[in-house]
Amino acid sequence: MPPAPKAAPPKKEESTAAAAPSEAGAPAKKVEKGKHAKKHKEEKGVKAMYKVEGDKISRSRPTCERCGPGYFMADHHSRYTCGHCGFTRYKQK
Ligand SMILES: [Zn+2]
Repeated sequence: MPPAPKAAPPKKEESTAAAAPSEAGAPAKKVEKGKHAKKHKEEKGVKAMYKVEGDKISRSRPTCERCGPGYFMADHHSRYTCGHCGFTRYKQK
């Protein structure tokens, strides 16, 4: 049984050689370091929804009344909203 001919995929020739324009006398862009280094630590994902305290967990956001537990609501400044069904619950002051 002869070996099956390999159908080699067409190679993409990378053309990055001409992608570097050389501007003589152009001022170098100053990249301010620290501008994006804000100490704004916001956890994302499901782990942001829970806080583990020892053996217990607490949910940091309310769950949707319509969708049931498992559907967390987004925390806005004056209300909670469910991204799943659109349910909105206003925060009580
Ligand atoms: Zn919902």
